[in-house]
Amino acid sequence: MTTVRYAPSPTGRLHLGNARPALLNWLFAKANAGTYILRLDDTDTARSTEEFARGIETDLAWLGIAPDLKVRQSDRTALYDAARDRLIASGRLYPAYETEEELDTKRARARLLGRPPIYDRAALNLTPEQRAKYEAEGRRPHWRFRLDGRPVAFDDLIKGPQTVNTVSMSDPVLVRADGSYLYTLPSVVDDIDLGITHVIRGEDHVSNTGTQIEIFEALGGNVPAFAHHNLLTGAEGEGLSKRLGSLSLAELREAGYEPMAVAIVAVLTGTSLALEPYPDLAALQQVFALSAVSHGSARFDPAELSSLNSRILHQMPYETARPRLEPLGLASEALWLALRGNLSVFSDIAGLATLVTGPVTPVIADEDREFLVQAGELLPPEPWDETTWSKWTDALKAATGRKGRALFHPLRLALTGREQGPELKSLLPLVGRTACLARLP
Ligand code: GLU
Repeated sequence: MTTVRYAPSPTGRLHLGNARPALLNWLFAKANAGTYILRLDDTDTARSTEEFARGIETDLAWLGIAPDLKVRQSDRTALYDAARDRLIASGRLYPAYETEEELDTKRARARLLGRPPIYDRAALNLTPEQRAKYEAEGRRPHWRFRLDGRPVAFDDLIKGPQTVNTVSMSDPVLVRADGSYLYTLPSVVDDIDLGITHVIRGEDHVSNTGTQIEIFEALGGNVPAFAHHNLLTGAEGEGLSKRLGSLSLAELREAGYEPMAVAIVAVLTGTSLALEPYPDLAALQQVFALSAVSHGSARFDPAELSSLNSRILHQMPYETARPRLEPLGLASEALWLALRGNLSVFSDIAGLATLVTGPVTPVIADEDREFLVQAGELLPPEPWDETTWSKWTDALKAATGRKGRALFHPLRLALTGREQGPELKSLLPLVGRTACLARLP
C-alpha cells in the first residue's frame, strides 16, 4: 500500500515552488491508488500560525488536492519524546553544552587550520563531573545524533543511485536546549508511525536523507523509498522564496490563473514532458511519471504560465465553464464557444460578453460611412447562423468591390467598437439582426 506525505511548515503561504512537491506526491498517490497525508510541520511554534495552516489547506484544495489524512506535528510530541529517549538509551543521541559562540570559535579555528568546520564531538568525551559542572552553571544541553561515519547509499527514484557521505557532516542537533525539536527527528518518527512508503521532496533535502536513513535504522523503522526533485527557480536560477509574494498560490489565484495552468507549470517545468493544457489532474497523471523529472534545472517562465492559462480556457468545454458562467448570468453554450478563444483569464468573459449584450460604441471612420450604410442594407434576413457572416460579406464584396481588410475591418470596428476580438461569424448570430443594424450608420 503506497502512502505519501506532503509536509509544509505553516510559516508562510504556499508558492509555486511548494506546489511542485504537493502535486508530485498527489500524482504519485493517485497513480498507485495510495494514501496522501498532509503533515503540517509546525514544530517551530514561533513562526507557525493557524492562519498559514488554513491558507495551505485552501491552496491545496484550489489545486485539486484532497488529503486523505491531516496531521500536525504539534499534536505528536509524545511520539518524538519516546523516540528521543530510545536514541539516548542506545547512545545515538548525546548531550552537548557548547554555546553558539563556542561553536563559532571552533568553526573559525578549523577553517584556519584548513580543516572542514565539522563538529569535533568534544561532548562525547565529557566526564560526568564536567557535565554536572555545566548543569550547575545553568547550561542546558542540546542533543546531537551520533552519525555512523559511513557513506549512506540509497536509490533515488528520480536521481538514481545516491551516496551521502555523513563522515563529512557534523553530528546534527535533533533537540534544542529548550527541549524543542528540529525538523529532522519528528519527520522520521512520523514517516515510521504513518507508514510512509515514499518520500517525495525537493533535492535540497538529499543530505538530510543521509542522516534520516541512519535515524530510521537506529529506530528500527522501515526506510521508505526517496525521490528528490529539482527545485523550481526563476529565470536566473534564483530560488522561489516563500516570501516572493507574486508567486504565492493565493496571488496567482487572485490574478485569475486557472489552477490547472499553475499545476501543469509546477509539475512539468524541468521535466522531459511538454507543457500541454491538460484539463484536469487525472489527465496530467496519465502522462506523468517521476522518471520524467530531469536531473538539471527547472526554470519557471511566467510567459509559459500565461500561455498555458489561455490554452486551457480556449479549449474548456461548456460543461466545465457553466458553473462559473451561471452566477454571471452568462450560461449560454453558444456564447461560451464564441468567446472562449479570446480569453486570457476567465474573468475576461464579462467584458467580452458586452460585445453581444451591449452597450457597444461603434467606431465608424468617415471614409467607411457610405460602405457601412450599404452593409446595413445588405444584412440578410433572420434566422441567422454561422454561415450568415460569409453570405453577408460575399454580397458586400460583390456590391462594393472591397475585399480583405478594407472589407472586414470597418465591419468589426462598427459592430464591436474594437480592433480585435472574437470571430464575427460566431458573434453575429448572438448579436442578432436588430442590434447589428443599430451599430451600423
Ligand atoms: N517541512 C519540510 C520542508 O518543508 C518537509 C521536508 C520533507 O518532505 O521531509 O522542507
